[in-house]
Amino acid sequence: MSFDLTRVRAAFPVLAREVNGQPLAYLDSAASAQKPQAVIDAESRFYEHGYAAVHRGIHTLSAEATTEMENVRASAARFLNAASPEEIVFVKGTTEGINLVASSWGGSQLQPGDNILITEMEHHANIVPWQMIAERTGAEVRFIPLTANGELDLTTLPALMDERTRMLAVTHVSNVLGTVNPVKELVAQAKAAGVATLIDGAQAVMHEKVDVQDLDCDFYLFSGHKIYGPSGIGILYGRKAMLDRMPPWEGGGSMIATVSLTEGTTYAAAPWRFEAGSPNTGGIIGLGAALAWVEELGLEAIAQREKTLMRYALDKLAAVPELVIYGPQERAGVIAFNLGQHHAYDVGSFLDRYGIAIRTGHHCAMPLMHHYGVPAMCRASFVLYNSEEEVDRLAAGLTRIHMLLGG
Ligand code: PMP
Repeated sequence: MSFDLTRVRAAFPVLAREVNGQPLAYLDSAASAQKPQAVIDAESRFYEHGYAAVHRGIHTLSAEATTEMENVRASAARFLNAASPEEIVFVKGTTEGINLVASSWGGSQLQPGDNILITEMEHHANIVPWQMIAERTGAEVRFIPLTANGELDLTTLPALMDERTRMLAVTHVSNVLGTVNPVKELVAQAKAAGVATLIDGAQAVMHEKVDVQDLDCDFYLFSGHKIYGPSGIGILYGRKAMLDRMPPWEGGGSMIATVSLTEGTTYAAAPWRFEAGSPNTGGIIGLGAALAWVEELGLEAIAQREKTLMRYALDKLAAVPELVIYGPQERAGVIAFNLGQHHAYDVGSFLDRYGIAIRTGHHCAMPLMHHYGVPAMCRASFVLYNSEEEVDRLAAGLTRIHMLLGG
């Protein structure tokens, strides 16, 4: 399979711009990825030629917009290899999707004394909603700790997962360490113990082909903006048998069957029961274009190319004096590091002067910072449009900062 980096980069107009007099080296895609022209065009085409409210409308534009939206539901189902489009719920993003599951599934299933198992490497989006529902229901949140290498310490699992464990919620790929968790094996173990499973795929779907039927998980989530689509739109996959049993979490238009002031309300079937109010139709159409764009390039070709680049980056960065890299050697998408004793913000500000965009801070993973005993890290992320030249500039920039600031 061939991968034409020049052609891929040309698809992203923003990559042509300069920052602080230097060509932009955008190494912050794990926070939010840039958009190819195809996504920008799809969204503007909708607003220029076909905008209307979906559902309810019988006029042509409304019917067309509804069809387009439901086509994207089918595309998302295909993308994840879900059994049917009815297993796809449109949400704002991964965060909203996890809140939906915690509130609807957790609110109706959890009893005092039950526990939810997460991990020490979760993004706050896969911690806080569980803490909130645990507080409401009297359940407990437990976590799988990490090894020194930044992998899940699975020797702890037999002691953590017991007869009161109801949910295992784990990230597919760590947004800080890039650790790729053995989610298929974890799901199998959970399932054997009758435990429901949720996989946070926010950092996974752009790097490798995900097949929810193969993983056999109950829920899988991702955000459009990290896979080259618009922000404000994401996907919650839910196994049909689970969604069918779950109560609505937000009430309003579009999620009802009948509403009566005297007889109460009956609800629509899943997934529409979970989509109250007017949807982000432009975002949905943009997401459809993003998934099509990624599929055309092919996730296998993307994965292969990114592996090569990641190996190159790890080798190059290993030569930077006093650079500490966190996490395992085998990883996807991100490299988190600190440069000597310098605060990540200082390092990030210097790099910005050289036109290099990285992320600095706690990365919405404070427990992980605590594990490593640091307040913050720098994180460079690498996706299909990044180049070896950008890696060289990052390594040279860091070496220069080390020289300027001292050890
Ligand atoms: N989980 C992980 C692993 C993430 O990296 C992120 C985004 N940084 C989220 C969840 C939350 O995604 P969003 O902000 O798009 O809802």
